[in-house]
Amino acid sequence: MVPLEATPKAGPNVITPGITEGHSLQSERVFRLLVESVRDYAIFLLTPDGIVASWNPGAERMKQYKPHEIIGKPFTLFYSSADNDSGKPQMELRVAAEVGRYEEEGWRIRKDGTRFWANVIINAVRDKDGSLLGFGKVTRDITDRREAELRYRLLIEGVTDYAIYSLDKTGTITSWNSGAQRIKGYSADEIIGRHFSQFYTKEDAEAGLPARVLATAAATGHYEGEGWRQRKDGTRFWSSVVVTPLRDEAGELVGFSKITRDITDRKQLLEKIRAHAEELEVRMAESERSNAELEAFSYSVSHDLRAPLRAIEGFSDFILTDFGGQLPPQVIELLQNIVQAADRMNRLVQDLLNYSRLSRIDIQSVPVNVATAIKDASEQIEEDLRRNITSSINPALMVKAHKATLTQAIFNLVNNGLKFYPPKQTPHVDIKAYRDGHSVTIEVCDEGIGIAPQHQERIFQVFERLHTAEAYPGTGIGLAIVRRGINRMGGAVRVESSPGKGSRFFISLPAA
Ligand code: ADP
Repeated sequence: MVPLEATPKAGPNVITPGITEGHSLQSERVFRLLVESVRDYAIFLLTPDGIVASWNPGAERMKQYKPHEIIGKPFTLFYSSADNDSGKPQMELRVAAEVGRYEEEGWRIRKDGTRFWANVIINAVRDKDGSLLGFGKVTRDITDRREAELRYRLLIEGVTDYAIYSLDKTGTITSWNSGAQRIKGYSADEIIGRHFSQFYTKEDAEAGLPARVLATAAATGHYEGEGWRQRKDGTRFWSSVVVTPLRDEAGELVGFSKITRDITDRKQLLEKIRAHAEELEVRMAESERSNAELEAFSYSVSHDLRAPLRAIEGFSDFILTDFGGQLPPQVIELLQNIVQAADRMNRLVQDLLNYSRLSRIDIQSVPVNVATAIKDASEQIEEDLRRNITSSINPALMVKAHKATLTQAIFNLVNNGLKFYPPKQTPHVDIKAYRDGHSVTIEVCDEGIGIAPQHQERIFQVFERLHTAEAYPGTGIGLAIVRRGINRMGGAVRVESSPGKGSRFFISLPAA
Protein backbone atom coordinates (compact mmCIF):
# COMPACT_ATOMS: atom_id res chain seq x y z
CA MET A 1 0.00 0.00 0.00
CA VAL A 2 1.38 3.35 -1.00
CA PRO A 3 0.69 6.22 1.44
CA LEU A 4 -1.59 8.79 -0.05
CA GLU A 5 -0.16 12.06 -1.00
CA ALA A 6 -1.18 14.66 1.56
CA THR A 7 -1.43 17.66 -0.69
CA PRO A 8 -4.77 19.16 -1.64
CA LYS A 9 -5.38 19.06 -5.38
CA ALA A 10 -8.95 20.17 -5.69
CA GLY A 11 -10.65 22.59 -3.33
CA PRO A 12 -9.14 23.93 -0.18
CA ASN A 13 -10.01 21.21 2.31
CA VAL A 14 -9.54 18.06 0.39
CA ILE A 15 -6.85 16.13 -1.25
CA THR A 16 -8.07 13.80 -3.91
CA PRO A 17 -6.14 10.63 -3.87
CA GLY A 18 -6.99 8.11 -6.51
CA ILE A 19 -10.33 7.65 -4.82
CA THR A 20 -12.33 9.74 -7.24
CA GLU A 21 -10.70 8.44 -10.37
CA GLY A 22 -13.30 7.17 -12.76
CA HIS A 23 -16.08 9.26 -11.28
CA SER A 24 -17.50 12.04 -13.32
CA LEU A 25 -16.14 15.42 -12.41
CA GLN A 26 -19.66 16.71 -12.01
CA SER A 27 -20.75 14.19 -9.42
CA GLU A 28 -17.48 14.59 -7.59
CA ARG A 29 -18.15 18.31 -7.36
CA VAL A 30 -21.70 17.77 -6.03
CA PHE A 31 -20.44 15.25 -3.52
CA ARG A 32 -17.74 17.61 -2.35
CA LEU A 33 -20.23 20.45 -1.93
CA LEU A 34 -22.45 18.17 0.08
CA VAL A 35 -19.67 17.16 2.41
CA GLU A 36 -18.57 20.79 2.64
CA SER A 37 -22.01 21.90 3.77
CA VAL A 38 -22.37 19.34 6.53
CA ARG A 39 -21.67 20.88 9.91
CA ASP A 40 -23.12 18.29 12.27
CA TYR A 41 -20.94 15.45 11.07
CA ALA A 42 -17.21 15.29 10.76
CA ILE A 43 -16.67 13.69 7.34
CA PHE A 44 -13.14 13.11 6.18
CA LEU A 45 -10.90 10.71 4.36
CA LEU A 46 -7.94 8.76 5.60
CA THR A 47 -5.15 7.23 3.63
CA PRO A 48 -4.77 3.46 4.03
CA ASP A 49 -2.33 4.02 6.90
CA GLY A 50 -4.46 6.61 8.69
CA ILE A 51 -3.24 10.00 7.47
CA VAL A 52 -6.00 12.63 7.33
CA ALA A 53 -6.57 13.41 3.66
CA SER A 54 -9.62 15.69 3.72
CA TRP A 55 -11.50 17.82 6.24
CA ASN A 56 -15.02 19.27 6.21
CA PRO A 57 -16.48 22.15 8.27
CA GLY A 58 -18.25 19.62 10.51
CA ALA A 59 -14.86 18.09 11.33
CA GLU A 60 -13.38 21.50 12.01
CA ARG A 61 -16.26 22.45 14.30
CA MET A 62 -16.13 19.18 16.17
CA LYS A 63 -12.42 18.62 16.49
CA GLN A 64 -11.23 22.27 16.33
CA TYR A 65 -8.44 21.70 13.77
CA LYS A 66 -8.28 23.95 10.74
CA PRO A 67 -7.79 21.96 7.53
CA HIS A 68 -4.17 23.02 7.18
CA GLU A 69 -3.45 21.99 10.77
CA ILE A 70 -4.66 18.43 10.33
CA ILE A 71 -4.51 17.35 6.72
CA GLY A 72 -1.43 15.22 6.35
CA LYS A 73 -1.38 14.37 10.09
CA PRO A 74 -2.21 10.92 11.50
CA PHE A 75 -5.76 10.33 12.71
CA THR A 76 -4.34 8.89 15.93
CA LEU A 77 -4.41 12.51 17.18
CA PHE A 78 -8.12 12.06 17.81
CA TYR A 79 -7.58 9.23 20.29
CA SER A 80 -6.62 9.27 23.94
CA SER A 81 -3.09 8.16 24.77
CA ALA A 82 -4.53 5.06 26.42
CA ASP A 83 -6.33 4.14 23.18
CA ASN A 84 -3.14 4.84 21.24
CA ASP A 85 -1.08 2.76 23.63
CA SER A 86 -3.40 -0.16 23.10
CA GLY A 87 -3.30 0.24 19.31
CA LYS A 88 -7.00 0.91 19.07
CA PRO A 89 -6.86 3.30 16.03
CA GLN A 90 -4.91 0.76 13.98
CA MET A 91 -7.24 -2.01 15.06
CA GLU A 92 -10.24 -0.01 13.79
CA LEU A 93 -8.68 0.46 10.36
CA ARG A 94 -7.75 -3.21 10.22
CA VAL A 95 -11.33 -4.24 10.94
CA ALA A 96 -12.70 -1.74 8.41
CA ALA A 97 -10.24 -3.03 5.80
CA GLU A 98 -11.14 -6.64 6.53
CA VAL A 99 -14.93 -6.46 6.77
CA GLY A 100 -15.53 -3.19 4.94
CA ARG A 101 -16.83 -1.25 7.88
CA TYR A 102 -16.17 -0.45 11.51
CA GLU A 103 -18.62 1.26 13.84
CA GLU A 104 -18.41 2.20 17.48
CA GLU A 105 -19.19 4.72 20.13
CA GLY A 106 -16.34 6.01 22.23
CA TRP A 107 -14.37 8.94 23.57
CA ARG A 108 -12.42 11.10 21.11
CA ILE A 109 -10.11 14.03 21.80
CA ARG A 110 -10.44 17.58 20.45
CA LYS A 111 -7.49 19.77 19.60
CA ASP A 112 -7.72 21.53 22.99
CA GLY A 113 -7.51 18.16 24.74
CA THR A 114 -11.20 18.02 25.80
CA ARG A 115 -13.06 14.87 24.96
CA PHE A 116 -16.40 14.17 23.37
CA TRP A 117 -18.46 11.01 23.00
CA ALA A 118 -18.42 10.07 19.35
CA ASN A 119 -20.37 7.78 17.12
CA VAL A 120 -17.81 6.70 14.56
CA ILE A 121 -18.27 4.88 11.26
CA ILE A 122 -15.22 3.96 9.18
CA ASN A 123 -15.76 2.63 5.67
CA ALA A 124 -13.01 1.09 3.57
CA VAL A 125 -12.75 2.65 0.10
CA ARG A 126 -11.48 0.38 -2.66
CA ASP A 127 -10.95 0.80 -6.39
CA LYS A 128 -12.40 -1.37 -9.13
CA ASP A 129 -9.72 -3.99 -8.65
CA GLY A 130 -10.36 -4.14 -4.94
CA SER A 131 -7.18 -2.54 -3.79
CA LEU A 132 -7.58 -0.33 -0.73
CA LEU A 133 -7.55 3.37 -1.52
CA GLY A 134 -8.21 4.57 1.98
CA PHE A 135 -11.07 5.11 4.44
CA GLY A 136 -14.06 7.38 4.73
CA LYS A 137 -14.77 8.40 8.26
CA VAL A 138 -18.00 9.88 9.58
CA THR A 139 -18.04 11.04 13.18
CA ARG A 140 -20.94 12.43 15.18
CA ASP A 141 -20.66 14.17 18.55
CA ILE A 142 -23.29 12.45 20.66
CA THR A 143 -22.04 13.65 24.05
CA ASP A 144 -25.41 15.26 24.84
CA ARG A 145 -27.33 12.13 23.98
CA ARG A 146 -24.93 10.01 25.97
CA GLU A 147 -25.27 12.30 28.96
CA ALA A 148 -29.05 12.25 28.73
CA GLU A 149 -28.95 8.47 28.50
CA LEU A 150 -26.55 8.31 31.39
CA ARG A 151 -28.72 10.58 33.51
CA TYR A 152 -31.74 8.48 32.61
CA ARG A 153 -29.87 5.29 33.45
CA LEU A 154 -28.69 6.73 36.76
CA LEU A 155 -32.22 7.82 37.51
CA ILE A 156 -33.64 4.36 36.86
CA GLU A 157 -30.69 2.81 38.63
CA GLY A 158 -31.23 4.97 41.70
CA VAL A 159 -34.86 3.97 42.14
CA THR A 160 -34.99 1.46 44.96
CA ASP A 161 -38.71 1.28 45.66
CA TYR A 162 -39.52 -0.08 42.23
CA ALA A 163 -37.97 -2.95 40.32
CA ILE A 164 -37.42 -1.46 36.86
CA TYR A 165 -35.98 -3.75 34.22
CA SER A 166 -36.25 -4.55 30.55
CA LEU A 167 -36.84 -7.69 28.58
CA ASP A 168 -36.17 -8.54 24.98
CA LYS A 169 -38.99 -9.78 22.75
CA THR A 170 -38.78 -13.28 24.15
CA GLY A 171 -38.76 -12.28 27.81
CA THR A 172 -35.02 -12.51 28.45
CA ILE A 173 -33.87 -9.91 30.96
CA THR A 174 -31.68 -7.18 29.43
CA SER A 175 -31.38 -4.58 32.21
CA TRP A 176 -31.80 -4.52 35.97
CA ASN A 177 -31.95 -1.64 38.45
CA SER A 178 -31.11 -1.50 42.15
CA GLY A 179 -34.81 -1.63 43.08
CA ALA A 180 -35.05 -4.92 41.21
CA GLN A 181 -32.07 -6.22 43.11
CA ARG A 182 -33.56 -5.10 46.42
CA ILE A 183 -37.02 -6.52 45.74
CA LYS A 184 -36.11 -9.76 43.99
CA GLY A 185 -32.73 -10.48 45.53
CA TYR A 186 -30.75 -11.08 42.30
CA SER A 187 -27.79 -8.91 41.27
CA ALA A 188 -27.69 -7.65 37.68
CA ASP A 189 -24.87 -10.08 36.84
CA GLU A 190 -26.87 -13.05 38.06
CA ILE A 191 -30.06 -12.27 36.27
CA ILE A 192 -29.36 -10.46 33.00
CA GLY A 193 -29.66 -13.01 30.21
CA ARG A 194 -32.14 -15.18 32.07
CA HIS A 195 -35.86 -15.48 31.42
CA PHE A 196 -38.27 -13.41 33.51
CA SER A 197 -40.67 -16.32 34.00
CA GLN A 198 -38.50 -17.47 36.88
CA PHE A 199 -40.02 -14.73 39.06
CA TYR A 200 -43.40 -16.38 38.80
CA THR A 201 -44.68 -19.02 41.16
CA LYS A 202 -44.60 -22.57 39.86
CA GLU A 203 -48.38 -22.63 39.45
CA ASP A 204 -48.49 -19.35 37.52
CA ALA A 205 -45.55 -20.34 35.32
CA GLU A 206 -47.16 -23.69 34.53
CA ALA A 207 -50.44 -21.95 33.76
CA GLY A 208 -48.58 -19.89 31.12
CA LEU A 209 -49.02 -16.55 32.86
CA PRO A 210 -45.62 -15.06 31.84
CA ALA A 211 -46.31 -15.58 28.13
CA ARG A 212 -49.83 -14.21 28.54
CA VAL A 213 -48.50 -11.07 30.23
CA LEU A 214 -46.15 -10.33 27.31
CA ALA A 215 -48.79 -11.18 24.71
CA THR A 216 -51.31 -8.86 26.39
CA ALA A 217 -48.78 -6.04 26.66
CA ALA A 218 -47.77 -6.46 23.00
CA ALA A 219 -51.37 -6.62 21.79
CA THR A 220 -52.87 -3.83 23.89
CA GLY A 221 -49.85 -1.62 24.60
CA HIS A 222 -50.12 -2.22 28.34
CA TYR A 223 -50.41 -4.89 30.99
CA GLU A 224 -51.21 -4.23 34.60
CA GLY A 225 -51.75 -6.81 37.30
CA GLU A 226 -51.16 -8.00 40.83
CA GLY A 227 -49.99 -11.39 41.97
CA TRP A 228 -47.56 -13.48 43.94
CA ARG A 229 -43.95 -13.45 42.74
CA GLN A 230 -40.92 -15.30 43.97
CA ARG A 231 -37.65 -13.86 45.26
CA LYS A 232 -34.27 -15.46 44.74
CA ASP A 233 -34.47 -17.04 48.21
CA GLY A 234 -37.80 -18.63 47.31
CA THR A 235 -39.93 -16.36 49.52
CA ARG A 236 -43.00 -14.81 47.98
CA PHE A 237 -44.17 -11.22 47.78
CA TRP A 238 -47.36 -9.68 46.47
CA SER A 239 -46.48 -7.54 43.49
CA SER A 240 -48.11 -4.86 41.45
CA VAL A 241 -46.79 -5.05 37.88
CA VAL A 242 -46.90 -2.80 34.83
CA VAL A 243 -45.54 -4.07 31.53
CA THR A 244 -45.12 -1.82 28.49
CA PRO A 245 -43.97 -2.96 25.04
CA LEU A 246 -40.94 -1.18 23.57
CA ARG A 247 -41.05 -0.51 19.83
CA ASP A 248 -38.47 0.95 17.44
CA GLU A 249 -39.11 3.85 15.05
CA ALA A 250 -40.66 1.46 12.56
CA GLY A 251 -43.07 0.17 15.20
CA GLU A 252 -41.34 -3.22 15.44
CA LEU A 253 -41.52 -4.80 18.87
CA VAL A 254 -38.03 -4.84 20.38
CA GLY A 255 -38.80 -5.76 23.97
CA PHE A 256 -40.65 -4.80 27.13
CA SER A 257 -40.15 -2.61 30.14
CA LYS A 258 -41.37 -3.93 33.45
CA ILE A 259 -42.05 -2.06 36.65
CA THR A 260 -42.77 -4.11 39.72
CA ARG A 261 -43.68 -2.93 43.21
CA ASP A 262 -43.74 -5.02 46.37
CA ILE A 263 -47.14 -4.27 47.91
CA THR A 264 -47.23 -7.19 50.34
CA ASP A 265 -47.70 -4.81 53.30
CA ARG A 266 -50.65 -3.14 51.67
CA LYS A 267 -52.21 -6.46 50.78
CA GLN A 268 -51.75 -7.78 54.31
CA LEU A 269 -53.30 -4.63 55.73
CA LEU A 270 -56.26 -4.93 53.39
CA GLU A 271 -56.67 -8.56 54.33
CA LYS A 272 -56.60 -7.68 58.03
CA ILE A 273 -59.23 -5.01 57.49
CA ARG A 274 -61.34 -7.45 55.49
CA ALA A 275 -61.01 -10.11 58.19
CA HIS A 276 -61.97 -7.58 60.86
CA ALA A 277 -64.97 -6.48 58.84
CA GLU A 278 -66.07 -10.09 58.42
CA GLU A 279 -65.61 -10.79 62.12
CA LEU A 280 -67.58 -7.67 62.92
CA GLU A 281 -70.36 -8.78 60.61
CA VAL A 282 -70.49 -12.18 62.28
CA ARG A 283 -70.60 -10.53 65.72
CA MET A 284 -73.30 -8.10 64.60
CA ALA A 285 -75.36 -10.98 63.27
CA GLU A 286 -74.85 -12.82 66.55
CA SER A 287 -75.82 -9.84 68.64
CA GLU A 288 -78.82 -9.15 66.41
CA ARG A 289 -79.84 -12.75 66.84
CA SER A 290 -79.43 -12.64 70.61
CA ASN A 291 -81.28 -9.30 70.74
CA ALA A 292 -84.11 -10.82 68.77
CA GLU A 293 -84.12 -13.85 71.05
CA LEU A 294 -84.21 -11.60 74.10
CA GLU A 295 -87.07 -9.60 72.60
CA ALA A 296 -89.02 -12.75 71.84
CA PHE A 297 -88.33 -14.06 75.33
CA SER A 298 -89.39 -10.86 77.09
CA TYR A 299 -92.48 -10.64 74.92
CA SER A 300 -93.66 -14.10 75.77
CA VAL A 301 -92.79 -13.65 79.46
CA SER A 302 -94.69 -10.37 79.63
CA HIS A 303 -97.58 -11.90 77.77
CA ASP A 304 -97.76 -14.95 80.01
CA LEU A 305 -97.45 -12.85 83.17
CA ARG A 306 -100.65 -11.04 82.45
CA ALA A 307 -103.00 -13.98 83.00
CA PRO A 308 -101.92 -14.83 86.58
CA LEU A 309 -101.82 -11.08 87.32
CA ARG A 310 -105.36 -10.69 86.18
CA ALA A 311 -106.28 -13.65 88.42
CA ILE A 312 -104.59 -12.07 91.47
CA GLU A 313 -106.27 -8.73 90.82
CA GLY A 314 -109.66 -10.35 90.07
CA PHE A 315 -109.69 -12.66 93.13
CA SER A 316 -108.52 -9.87 95.47
CA ASP A 317 -111.23 -7.60 94.10
CA PHE A 318 -113.74 -10.41 94.49
CA ILE A 319 -112.81 -10.96 98.17
CA LEU A 320 -112.97 -7.21 98.82
CA THR A 321 -116.41 -6.72 97.28
CA ASP A 322 -118.07 -9.96 98.34
CA PHE A 323 -116.48 -10.61 101.76
CA GLY A 324 -115.25 -7.14 102.68
CA GLY A 325 -117.88 -6.82 105.40
CA GLN A 326 -116.68 -9.97 107.20
CA LEU A 327 -112.99 -9.08 107.22
CA PRO A 328 -111.01 -7.14 109.81
CA PRO A 329 -109.84 -3.70 108.53
CA GLN A 330 -106.18 -4.82 108.60
CA VAL A 331 -106.87 -7.62 106.13
CA ILE A 332 -108.84 -5.25 103.92
CA GLU A 333 -105.84 -2.85 103.80
CA LEU A 334 -103.51 -5.70 102.94
CA LEU A 335 -105.83 -6.85 100.17
CA GLN A 336 -105.96 -3.28 98.83
CA ASN A 337 -102.14 -3.29 98.75
CA ILE A 338 -102.26 -6.52 96.76
CA VAL A 339 -104.66 -4.97 94.24
CA GLN A 340 -102.46 -1.87 93.90
CA ALA A 341 -99.28 -3.89 93.45
CA ALA A 342 -100.95 -6.11 90.88
CA ASP A 343 -102.20 -3.02 89.10
CA ARG A 344 -98.74 -1.53 88.99
CA MET A 345 -97.28 -4.77 87.74
CA ASN A 346 -99.96 -4.89 85.10
CA ARG A 347 -98.92 -1.43 83.85
CA LEU A 348 -95.28 -2.48 83.83
CA VAL A 349 -96.05 -5.56 81.78
CA GLN A 350 -98.26 -3.52 79.46
CA ASP A 351 -95.46 -0.98 78.90
CA LEU A 352 -92.90 -3.69 78.32
CA LEU A 353 -95.18 -5.29 75.77
CA ASN A 354 -95.62 -1.95 74.03
CA TYR A 355 -91.89 -1.41 74.03
CA SER A 356 -91.02 -4.82 72.62
CA ARG A 357 -93.85 -4.60 70.10
CA LEU A 358 -92.23 -1.41 68.77
CA SER A 359 -89.23 -3.37 67.54
CA ARG A 360 -91.34 -6.06 65.90
CA ILE A 361 -94.13 -4.18 64.17
CA ASP A 362 -93.74 -2.97 60.64
CA ILE A 363 -93.39 0.80 60.82
CA GLN A 364 -94.39 2.44 57.56
CA SER A 365 -93.84 6.19 57.52
CA VAL A 366 -96.51 8.24 55.72
CA PRO A 367 -97.20 11.98 55.70
CA VAL A 368 -98.75 12.87 59.04
CA ASN A 369 -100.16 16.24 60.04
CA VAL A 370 -98.21 17.42 63.08
CA ALA A 371 -100.99 19.52 64.59
CA THR A 372 -103.38 16.54 64.43
CA ALA A 373 -100.85 14.20 66.08
CA ILE A 374 -100.34 16.73 68.91
CA LYS A 375 -104.10 17.15 69.32
CA ASP A 376 -104.62 13.35 69.46
CA ALA A 377 -101.84 13.00 72.04
CA SER A 378 -103.25 15.82 74.19
CA GLU A 379 -106.71 14.27 74.16
CA GLN A 380 -105.35 11.20 75.91
CA ILE A 381 -104.31 13.36 78.89
CA GLU A 382 -106.77 13.59 81.78
CA GLU A 383 -109.16 16.44 81.16
CA ASP A 384 -108.25 18.66 84.12
CA LEU A 385 -104.53 18.43 83.30
CA ARG A 386 -105.10 19.06 79.61
CA ARG A 387 -105.81 22.71 80.38
CA ASN A 388 -102.14 23.13 81.30
CA ILE A 389 -100.96 22.39 77.77
CA THR A 390 -100.37 25.26 75.34
CA SER A 391 -99.38 24.97 71.70
CA SER A 392 -99.49 26.95 68.48
CA ILE A 393 -98.76 24.79 65.50
CA ASN A 394 -98.81 25.62 61.80
CA PRO A 395 -101.77 23.51 60.65
CA ALA A 396 -100.05 22.76 57.32
CA LEU A 397 -96.91 21.25 58.88
CA MET A 398 -96.44 17.64 57.72
CA VAL A 399 -93.96 15.02 58.84
CA LYS A 400 -93.06 11.52 57.61
CA ALA A 401 -94.11 9.22 60.44
CA HIS A 402 -96.14 6.28 61.68
CA LYS A 403 -99.09 8.10 63.16
CA ALA A 404 -99.83 5.92 66.20
CA THR A 405 -96.14 5.77 67.17
CA LEU A 406 -95.72 9.54 66.85
CA THR A 407 -98.86 10.21 68.87
CA GLN A 408 -97.64 7.80 71.56
CA ALA A 409 -94.24 9.52 71.71
CA ILE A 410 -95.76 12.99 72.04
CA PHE A 411 -98.16 11.69 74.68
CA ASN A 412 -95.31 10.20 76.74
CA LEU A 413 -93.33 13.46 76.64
CA VAL A 414 -96.33 15.64 77.50
CA ASN A 415 -97.35 13.23 80.25
CA ASN A 416 -93.86 13.41 81.79
CA GLY A 417 -93.80 17.19 81.45
CA LEU A 418 -97.02 17.42 83.44
CA LYS A 419 -95.80 14.86 85.98
CA PHE A 420 -92.30 15.92 87.02
CA TYR A 421 -93.18 19.07 88.91
CA PRO A 422 -92.40 20.13 92.48
CA PRO A 423 -95.34 19.25 94.72
CA LYS A 424 -98.07 21.88 94.85
CA GLN A 425 -96.87 23.74 91.79
CA THR A 426 -99.18 23.89 88.76
CA PRO A 427 -97.57 22.14 85.83
CA HIS A 428 -97.36 23.70 82.40
CA VAL A 429 -96.26 22.17 79.11
CA ASP A 430 -95.80 24.12 75.89
CA ILE A 431 -95.53 22.37 72.52
CA LYS A 432 -93.87 23.92 69.48
CA ALA A 433 -93.29 22.46 66.03
CA TYR A 434 -91.34 23.94 63.12
CA ARG A 435 -89.63 23.07 59.88
CA ASP A 436 -85.86 22.75 60.20
CA GLY A 437 -84.30 22.23 56.74
CA HIS A 438 -85.37 18.76 55.59
CA SER A 439 -86.66 17.93 59.08
CA VAL A 440 -89.47 18.90 61.36
CA THR A 441 -88.75 19.46 65.04
CA ILE A 442 -91.38 19.02 67.73
CA GLU A 443 -90.45 20.57 71.07
CA VAL A 444 -92.11 19.63 74.34
CA CYS A 445 -91.12 22.11 77.07
CA ASP A 446 -91.94 22.11 80.75
CA GLU A 447 -90.97 24.27 83.70
CA GLY A 448 -90.64 21.35 86.12
CA ILE A 449 -87.91 19.81 88.24
CA GLY A 450 -85.44 19.35 85.37
CA ILE A 451 -82.83 16.62 84.89
CA ALA A 452 -79.18 16.77 85.96
CA PRO A 453 -76.77 16.58 82.99
CA GLN A 454 -75.28 13.23 84.06
CA HIS A 455 -78.72 11.57 83.81
CA GLN A 456 -79.85 13.10 80.54
CA GLU A 457 -78.74 10.15 78.44
CA ARG A 458 -79.59 7.21 80.66
CA ILE A 459 -83.24 8.18 81.19
CA PHE A 460 -83.87 6.91 77.65
CA GLN A 461 -83.02 3.36 78.75
CA VAL A 462 -85.66 0.87 79.93
CA PHE A 463 -86.38 1.03 83.69
CA GLU A 464 -84.12 4.05 84.25
CA ARG A 465 -85.92 6.28 86.73
CA LEU A 466 -84.52 9.08 88.86
CA HIS A 467 -87.24 8.96 91.51
CA THR A 468 -89.18 6.52 93.63
CA ALA A 469 -92.63 5.36 92.58
CA GLU A 470 -93.97 7.10 95.68
CA ALA A 471 -92.55 10.49 94.67
CA TYR A 472 -93.48 10.19 90.98
CA PRO A 473 -95.38 7.15 89.71
CA GLY A 474 -94.21 5.49 86.55
CA THR A 475 -92.59 2.45 85.03
CA GLY A 476 -89.40 3.91 83.57
CA ILE A 477 -90.28 2.73 80.08
CA GLY A 478 -91.95 5.84 78.62
CA LEU A 479 -88.81 7.52 77.25
CA ALA A 480 -87.42 4.20 75.98
CA ILE A 481 -90.61 3.83 73.94
CA VAL A 482 -90.20 7.40 72.65
CA ARG A 483 -86.61 6.83 71.51
CA ARG A 484 -87.19 3.45 69.91
CA GLY A 485 -90.32 4.65 68.12
CA ILE A 486 -88.73 7.84 66.80
CA ASN A 487 -85.56 5.98 65.75
CA ARG A 488 -87.60 3.42 63.87
CA MET A 489 -89.20 6.26 61.91
CA GLY A 490 -85.76 7.54 60.93
CA GLY A 491 -85.76 10.37 63.46
CA ALA A 492 -83.97 11.31 66.66
CA VAL A 493 -84.88 12.49 70.14
CA ARG A 494 -82.81 14.46 72.65
CA VAL A 495 -83.21 16.56 75.76
CA GLU A 496 -81.97 19.89 77.06
CA SER A 497 -82.60 20.49 80.72
CA SER A 498 -81.44 22.31 83.80
CA PRO A 499 -82.41 21.08 87.26
CA GLY A 500 -85.01 23.33 88.90
CA LYS A 501 -85.79 25.21 85.69
CA GLY A 502 -87.40 22.66 83.40
CA SER A 503 -86.74 20.45 80.39
CA ARG A 504 -87.13 20.59 76.62
CA PHE A 505 -87.47 17.36 74.68
CA PHE A 506 -86.84 17.58 70.92
CA ILE A 507 -88.21 15.09 68.42
CA SER A 508 -86.90 15.50 64.90
CA LEU A 509 -88.30 13.60 61.94
CA PRO A 510 -88.05 13.90 58.15
CA ALA A 511 -90.38 16.55 56.77
CA ALA A 512 -93.07 15.35 54.37
P1 ADP B 1 -91.38 7.17 83.87
O1 ADP B 1 -91.90 8.50 83.47
O2 ADP B 1 -92.38 6.11 83.76
O3 ADP B 1 -90.61 7.18 85.11
P2 ADP B 1 -89.72 7.59 81.57
O4 ADP B 1 -88.92 6.65 80.79
O5 ADP B 1 -90.75 8.36 80.87
O6 ADP B 1 -90.30 6.77 82.75
O7 ADP B 1 -88.74 8.59 82.25
C1 ADP B 1 -87.58 8.11 82.89
C2 ADP B 1 -87.13 9.06 83.95
O8 ADP B 1 -86.65 10.27 83.34
C3 ADP B 1 -88.20 9.54 84.84
O9 ADP B 1 -88.42 8.62 85.89
C4 ADP B 1 -87.69 10.86 85.35
O10 ADP B 1 -86.79 10.65 86.38
C5 ADP B 1 -86.95 11.40 84.16
N1 ADP B 1 -87.80 12.32 83.39
C6 ADP B 1 -88.48 12.06 82.25
N2 ADP B 1 -89.11 13.17 81.81
C7 ADP B 1 -88.81 14.16 82.67
C8 ADP B 1 -89.17 15.55 82.74
N3 ADP B 1 -89.96 16.12 81.85
N4 ADP B 1 -88.68 16.26 83.78
C9 ADP B 1 -87.87 15.70 84.70
N5 ADP B 1 -87.51 14.38 84.67
C10 ADP B 1 -87.95 13.63 83.66
